[in-house]
Amino acid sequence: MFKAVSAYTKSLAAVARWRLGYTFALVVISSLTEGLGLALLLPTLQLAGVDIGSGSAAGRYAAVVREGLGAVGLRPTLALMLALFVWIICVRAIVTRAQGMAITVLFETFAQHLRQRLFEAVSGANWLFICKSRSSDFVHALTNEVDRASGAAHQGLYSVSGAAVAALYIVASFILFPASTLLMLALCAVLGLLLRAKTRAVYSVGSEVSDVTNSVYAAAIEHFQSIKTAKMYGAQRRTCDIFSGLTREMTATGLRLTNEQLSADAWFEIGSAVMMGGMLLVAIKWMAISPAEVLILLVLFARVLPRIRSMQTSYRGFVALLPGFATVTRIEEQCRAAAEPDRDVGQPMEFRSALRFENVSFTYPPNATPVLRGIDLTISVGRTVAIVGPSGAGKSTIADLVMGLMPAGSGRVTVDGTPLNPARALSWREGIGYVGQDTYLFHDTVRANLLWARPDANENQLRAALRKAAADEFVARLPDGIDTIVGDRGATLSQGERQRLALARAILRQPRLLVLDESTNSLDSENEARILGAIEQMQGGITTVLIAHRLSTIRWADLIYVIEDGQVVESGDWTTLSARLDGRFRSWCVAQGLAA
Ligand code: ADP
Repeated sequence: MFKAVSAYTKSLAAVARWRLGYTFALVVISSLTEGLGLALLLPTLQLAGVDIGSGSAAGRYAAVVREGLGAVGLRPTLALMLALFVWIICVRAIVTRAQGMAITVLFETFAQHLRQRLFEAVSGANWLFICKSRSSDFVHALTNEVDRASGAAHQGLYSVSGAAVAALYIVASFILFPASTLLMLALCAVLGLLLRAKTRAVYSVGSEVSDVTNSVYAAAIEHFQSIKTAKMYGAQRRTCDIFSGLTREMTATGLRLTNEQLSADAWFEIGSAVMMGGMLLVAIKWMAISPAEVLILLVLFARVLPRIRSMQTSYRGFVALLPGFATVTRIEEQCRAAAEPDRDVGQPMEFRSALRFENVSFTYPPNATPVLRGIDLTISVGRTVAIVGPSGAGKSTIADLVMGLMPAGSGRVTVDGTPLNPARALSWREGIGYVGQDTYLFHDTVRANLLWARPDANENQLRAALRKAAADEFVARLPDGIDTIVGDRGATLSQGERQRLALARAILRQPRLLVLDESTNSLDSENEARILGAIEQMQGGITTVLIAHRLSTIRWADLIYVIEDGQVVESGDWTTLSARLDGRFRSWCVAQGLAA
């Protein structure tokens, strides 16, 4: 746990820098004003007529304070002392307000920093890592866990401020009663040691809180993403039951955490009461101190012990929230370890001649079986290349390698003869338009969804892209035309309409390479023909990779690669392939009613 506390402190110090010093300064000033109030207590009591014994330590202390006031030209009267009290309380109120604000700014800034850093780390992680990860883990870390991590700063600083105030009281107490104070400190240390196990338990239950809230997030997000399927399968009741089971677990863990914290507080309370009683007994019976000193000792205890208690309570609050920080750093470190390299600072990627796969094999880690084996293919500039094959043959994997989303396992992918390494992949992807099987639309207007791909596009370019993607007519029919909100992930549109908007978005980018991965499979034949016609018209001007299992969509491709079980089994144009009587391609054409 010490490591977790030190990692947290380092991270907070790195973000807060001068703010941390400023906040600490306010904490110290606030403690000093409290200490000053205490310093005035004894002489004020004396001026009010309470006999504190002039020869006693308390009497000597009161005399020192009176002399100090005299040295700065103040005559210690009851009225002056009371006026000083009021003044100190006013200063304290102002400083405490500033301190509260400074702590809040500190933890809000820390939260913002953690959130931003994590978001960037997740966005910069490579595609294979993203594929293996659960998106709800990221959402949970970015929201709940960042809140807990920054809340820990709040608790931690209150704990430190409590420690500073307690230290002042302890110093004052030590000046007056060195032996009793040392004894009290020793007993406090014993109490602290006894409660260490409780603090560790708080940390461990705090980690369980992280796990169980993560499960609740995952259940909620996955359910909302699949709500239609859940309804269709009548699985609502089951998912609700699973969810309520998780929320019950979450409540139970929260209660256990509070229970651990409260029981630690209670043990401290009991321990300190026993300690105080014992000490008073020793002081009165064996150390023979005066009744006035007993009174002062009581006042000191009554002020010091609650400070130490609140310091401990805040510390345990800090420890309970610390696992939130651990989750955020763990996920951030995993993402950074899987980061895509920074963009190559050399020449931007050009595409003048061809993209080539040279004996490329690929295996998804940690699997042992390759999904692509010894692939050789060429995508020449200006050509339309189709990749066809049965489901699971490896077509989308080829598309991902073409787009530089993952590096080839063995062999090379080259662009104009230069290997497409991860450092060059970022600038390579800037020139690619991609429409996949799962089109993603934001909960925003049609216009905003299009502009996302190219923020500087003008109205004419937007309309032209819609026209080319055969989306102009249905968009015109929407209630607010191009300014209609399409719903969460385009929920108010049909699958075919979503695909056409996604295609318009890709076309709007004016890409050098257009990759269409089964992107017309939800269209009716009329709209499919329109889109294919549009793409055909672009033929020559744009390089297109068409991935399909419906052969009707690739009839006019310049070159067709037939993929089966991760290998190229045939290649050529439509006429050549469909004429090969014993070929795989021809047998699919026959099966799909495209050849006799
Ligand atoms: P196709 O596009 O031809 O249907 P894919 O390229 O999507 O085929 O998949 C090829 C094989 O790779 C399949 O067996 C699939 O299960 C596997 N696969 C795809 N993506 C992943 C992944 N992220 N991790 C592990 N295996 C994967």
